Amino acid sequence: MSDLLANLNDPQLQAVTLPPQHALILAGAGSGKTRVLTTRIAWLISSGQCDPAAILAVTFTNKAAKEMLARLSTMLPINTRGMWIGTFHGLCNRLLRAHHRDAGLAQLFQILDSADQLAAIKRLLKTLNIDDEKFPPRELQHFINAQKEAGLRPDAVEAWDDYTRRRVELYREYEGQCQRESVVDFAELLLRSYELLERNEPLRRHYQRRFRHILVDEFQDTNRLQYRWLKLLAGGDPPACLFCVGDDDQSIYRFRGAEVGNMRDFEREFHVANVIRLEQNYRSHGNILDAANAIIRHNAGRLGKNLWTEQGAGEPIRVFEAFSDADEARWIVEEVQQLVRDGALRSDIALLYRSNAQSRVLEHALFSAGIPYRVYGGLRFFERQEIKHALAYLRLIANPDDDTAFARVVNFPTRGIGARSIEVLQDAARTYNTSLYATVPHLTGKPGTTLAQFVRLIEDLRRETARLPLPELVDHVLERSGLRDHYKAEKEGRERLENLDELIGAAANFVAESQADPEALAADHALLADFLAHASLEAGEHQAEQGMDAVQLMTVHAAKGLEFDAVFLSGLEEGLFPHENSILEAEGLEEERRLMYVAVTRARKRLYLSFAQSRMLHGQARYNLRSRFLEEIPEPLTRWLTPPKPRGNAATGFGGYYEPPRGAFATRPAAPAVPSRREEGGLHIGQLVSHARFGQGVIVAAEGSGANACVQVNFGASGIKWLKLAVAKLEPC
Ligand code: ATP
Ligand code: MG
Repeated sequence: MSDLLANLNDPQLQAVTLPPQHALILAGAGSGKTRVLTTRIAWLISSGQCDPAAILAVTFTNKAAKEMLARLSTMLPINTRGMWIGTFHGLCNRLLRAHHRDAGLAQLFQILDSADQLAAIKRLLKTLNIDDEKFPPRELQHFINAQKEAGLRPDAVEAWDDYTRRRVELYREYEGQCQRESVVDFAELLLRSYELLERNEPLRRHYQRRFRHILVDEFQDTNRLQYRWLKLLAGGDPPACLFCVGDDDQSIYRFRGAEVGNMRDFEREFHVANVIRLEQNYRSHGNILDAANAIIRHNAGRLGKNLWTEQGAGEPIRVFEAFSDADEARWIVEEVQQLVRDGALRSDIALLYRSNAQSRVLEHALFSAGIPYRVYGGLRFFERQEIKHALAYLRLIANPDDDTAFARVVNFPTRGIGARSIEVLQDAARTYNTSLYATVPHLTGKPGTTLAQFVRLIEDLRRETARLPLPELVDHVLERSGLRDHYKAEKEGRERLENLDELIGAAANFVAESQADPEALAADHALLADFLAHASLEAGEHQAEQGMDAVQLMTVHAAKGLEFDAVFLSGLEEGLFPHENSILEAEGLEEERRLMYVAVTRARKRLYLSFAQSRMLHGQARYNLRSRFLEEIPEPLTRWLTPPKPRGNAATGFGGYYEPPRGAFATRPAAPAVPSRREEGGLHIGQLVSHARFGQGVIVAAEGSGANACVQVNFGASGIKWLKLAVAKLEPC
């Protein structure tokens, strides 16, 4: 047990071992928030204070959830698989799957990602014959999601003008369409599970009793509905303990409805006695940290904190001015190669950028230099056209009423079903109020015949795959649907075929990871539905080339919570970063600055900043000024690299500016050993005790024996105290 706590500093130790009360850990980047949260879970379980099943932990990405589970299994001798640790979406999906009937959903409901949702909205507008210039689909999507995130169903939306009234009508129609098709979008996952818990008292009681500790990472980026969801789950009798960690300076999802105000509300509404601040940063060298502090200081209205580190100043921050984006990319590649020659792992190097479009030129430079890389977000495996087609067939097998999937592949590969036939089908579906699939038998004439053939194909597939293990099922569908042949015949189809094969690999991985019994579940396609949910939720978080040491590419948004030895941040130009959409508005600019703060604080040892005098973006050359954020970094922390002479010099390379010191990339310490339970004077570590003056506390450590026995107790707001057992009169609770 003490091993578990051994490396924590005082405020971290206090946070990890707090007595069961609500707590807010408010701390800057790299100060150990995520580590504290994970260690607290391990501490609660290993000290016997609660069962793994009583923990609910919310992370911001699936990647973070996986890392947390992996870390817990090194800390605890238990199987962590069944634990409720995941993103809000992942946890809501789990809840709705388990109680689909109570939630009014089909057992094998499908999840619409945001591209699917947009397609569904476009389809709806078309069916209703609505001009999409008057009601742009993207805007409508945003409107619907904003209502759902505010917890509002169409009946509850206040509409003062005709335009809004019409949009509310469309929201209602969209809901009807989703319900008919048994599909659920991301915002719906949350709202539906919130309503389920709110409406269904026995169920709510069950989960309120079950989850004794609810822990939330990146709390600053929760939206209103997520906050209410937490409040509902924690609001049992007795209430659960809510343990939230966050950093107001890293709130970067305001545009998606996140509210930093949730932190203040939480403190007030839950009477949080324990607000703990962590100010020591363990991640970054001094120069990097000083730069981050200097940048964020330009924002007004912060909750206020300053990070410090015991690590030395380290290397200066390299700033490079390139002539063009291509030069910039070449310079980055040269530096990456130098780092790798010096012993760095490629996966410890990240290339970050503000917008996805910037990745292409970096990818090209890396590819040309033969450096393996992986893109997170952006070009996502599960979003590639061929994968979406394959998934659409699989979705129809799991749920034939899924109209989005139906529309995607009814004529792909082409089978002579024209747009006219689809229109007839859609009209009929509206008349009968049934899904497209279920409407087919009502049609006569040529459309009826060709569509019936498609329906037969899906029915055959359902039958043929009913007893197949998941990977074979996928393989069979790729073959029988004609997708493979289609891409074989395509000139540029090779990569697409490889991707399709990769989907079989993804299915095999999924079976192995979920440890499900494929035989038992194959029969009713339940495992397939789980796999499809996984595909929607995990889209974009794994790029191919699994297991290979690769440089990491991602947007700054996607880098939240992560850390790398070396970080390259390119495109530091006005209009790009800060982004042109946010420059004119004070609030927008502050959000950009927080994003810059997130970017800078991802780096452990080396930070490289660069900008280009000219850049091709969306097919046009742009000439931008360098970013104001560069000016906000104090000069002594940086080393500006003189740009090489224009053109023609590329062959001589851009190296030779400095010699990186050897051994800059030390190996990281091993994970702590499994903790043991210690007994002292009838009391044990982790035990809840009460003291006449300090109130309730938890025993954190023990020393000495007999008359000299002392224990260290964390009394939460009253602090951590060493007490002599013979004197202190501690009562076990
Ligand atoms: P972010 O705000 O970026 O999410 P964070 O506050 O969650 O950061 P962590 O990721 O938990 O910070 O920790 C940053 C790094 O510091 C990690 O590598 C972590 O293992 C390390 N660290 C945290 N606390 C300590 C400690 N007491 N001793 C040594 N290393 C620590
Ligand atoms: Mg973190």
